[in-house]
Amino acid sequence: MHELSICSSIADITTRRAAGRTVVVINMRIGQLRQIVPGTLVYCWELVSADTPLAGSRISVEYVPARISCRSCEQVTEVGEVPLFACAGCGGIDVEVVSGEEFLITSLELEALAADDAGRGQPTDQGAAKGSPGEGTGA
Ligand SMILES: [Zn+2]
Repeated sequence: MHELSICSSIADITTRRAAGRTVVVINMRIGQLRQIVPGTLVYCWELVSADTPLAGSRISVEYVPARISCRSCEQVTEVGEVPLFACAGCGGIDVEVVSGEEFLITSLELEALAADDAGRGQPTDQGAAKGSPGEGTGA
């Protein structure tokens, strides 16, 4: 099954991007037309990552439904479970695939980098924030 070779590629890319840091979650976006079963991918990932530094990480899949855009009437149609590439508006088949072919790693969630403290949670100390010390508990 091709999910296994896909997982090997994911492992390569992730290992390079993580650069030694511990990966917790690999966020991926996968289009319907890729014919990848997210559940199978997740399962294969466990096998592929098992004996590597990536063991324990998991894949989170954002599944992108296939959509087509009609060249005649410009309506965008969401393709159903069984892809029928005809416009829902006019029935035309002169259509263009506008989504569903995605296959990419969108982000990695890494362990213990205190990412939450990096950009928020603290008032900026650049003068503009003067005079209102720590009243941020409301709402
Ligand atoms: Zn149409």
